[in-house]
Amino acid sequence: MTLNIPNQTIQLNNLIGGQWQPGQGREQTVTSPYTGQVVGTFREASPEQVNHAAASAQEAFAIWRKTPLKERTQIMFRFREKLVEQLDEIANIVSLENGKTLGESKAGLMKGIEVLEFALSLQNLDSGGKMEVSRGVHCEYRREPLGVIANITPFNFPAMVPMWTIPIALTLGNSYIWKPSEKTPLTSRWISQALLDAGLPKGVFTVLQGGKDVVEAVIDHQLVKAVGFVGSSHVAELVYQRGSQLGKRVLALGGAKNHIVLLPDAHPEICGGISDSFTGCAGQRCMAASVLLAVGDCQAQIDQVVARAESQRAGYEIGAIISREQLEFLHRAIDQAVADGAKILVDGRKVEPPEAYRDGYWLGPTILDHVQPETQAATQELFGPILSIVRCNNISEAMVIENRNPYGNACSVFTNNGGLAEQVAQQAKAGMVGINIGVPVPREPFSFGGIGRSKFGHGDITGVHSLNFWSDMKKLTSKWTMQSDHNWMS
Ligand code: NAD
Repeated sequence: MTLNIPNQTIQLNNLIGGQWQPGQGREQTVTSPYTGQVVGTFREASPEQVNHAAASAQEAFAIWRKTPLKERTQIMFRFREKLVEQLDEIANIVSLENGKTLGESKAGLMKGIEVLEFALSLQNLDSGGKMEVSRGVHCEYRREPLGVIANITPFNFPAMVPMWTIPIALTLGNSYIWKPSEKTPLTSRWISQALLDAGLPKGVFTVLQGGKDVVEAVIDHQLVKAVGFVGSSHVAELVYQRGSQLGKRVLALGGAKNHIVLLPDAHPEICGGISDSFTGCAGQRCMAASVLLAVGDCQAQIDQVVARAESQRAGYEIGAIISREQLEFLHRAIDQAVADGAKILVDGRKVEPPEAYRDGYWLGPTILDHVQPETQAATQELFGPILSIVRCNNISEAMVIENRNPYGNACSVFTNNGGLAEQVAQQAKAGMVGINIGVPVPREPFSFGGIGRSKFGHGDITGVHSLNFWSDMKKLTSKWTMQSDHNWMS
């Protein structure tokens, strides 16, 4: 499978009230990180269009909430079929606008479909509970949708991150407004069309294109009851504060700086997983391990990590960096690390991508050794295929470094000793912990979500712990008197 670059620029619209409409705001372009060429254009939604979208979503909600869960689920089944039918086409669009390899784009979409499969099971898993709590008195709960909800997503997973919330929030009966990243908005057209083709009533699903202004207008809109956000910590905090001040339910996932604690007894053969963690998606994922805390003598394992990284070439096994500005930032960060005393073990700046992608934005795997724990390379989220090795004398020293980072997304340990693995799992600050796994993403029905500056708000964004975020629980207590003197009953 090779990347298919369309001959014509894709004209992207907003989906409002079930109709595709050009935006009335600023014009923006979408550039492919593979080629540096413009591949799409769109106009941002205007404030009037945000208003119109929210009103249409509210109108559609009145119908959608009354559609029985089983019927909603049937539409979501058809949504799954449409996505599977178009897997290659959608993966191609994701790669085109984001720079991932086609395999990564496909895997991301499959992960999104896994969340959809979890949503399909809600009709059986979460059908409510009822019991007689005292003679003749019954208690039950009913899960109710919130109304119009909004989701704001980042550039780095144009399909997977939106699919964390679309299936669950819709199946629970909400109307959904999606504001994709302005850097990677094209995928939204394919996902939305699949929903429309599956028979979702018009207005239940809305897409508004744009950036900060559109996000703020959506959060502020009185009809929007809850806001999900995934992106950088700085913006996650702004979104959380803005929405909370208006009394809205907000779950805002932020950035990360993830650690792997490497112990000398880890099997060198499995240490390739460490390399894949920081090189996958060119390091542009919130679960990438970017700091390796090497405890004691781990040279055999580090040699394996280096060998694997050296076998991965930018433009072939490794995808592109989102923009020229980000690529330049990464180059500066490598220079800064060297100035701060780091030694380069693998230098990804010397790249030879395929001829067709020469004008794209490429950085190969880069490994920095003897990074000092307080320097930029060890503390700041760089968002590129760069691994910083910090040498530690013992596990306690490693855990102090892991614990004092302000984020809290992921931490893994590589070891063959179950007791030591448990020690690291207990002491890690991160919300998602891995043992001999470089990217410890919990699969459904387990929920995704970190702590600290990696998540503002409560609950998680997927799995069982997301249900209470996307719905309200109504508790009903009832007592009926049985009467036998109604002749008309017999
Ligand atoms: P970003 O914060 O720049 O943008 C995310 C979204 O916020 C976009 O839709 C954008 O239009 C909007 N936005 C940008 N500035 C805004 C502002 N001032 N006010 C309101 N909205 C604004 O993030 P990004 O660069 O697109 O994505 C990369 C970041 O996302 C990384 O930090 C990464 O770790 C994080 N991320 C986190 C997770 C997670 O699960 N914790 C998952 C994926 C990505």
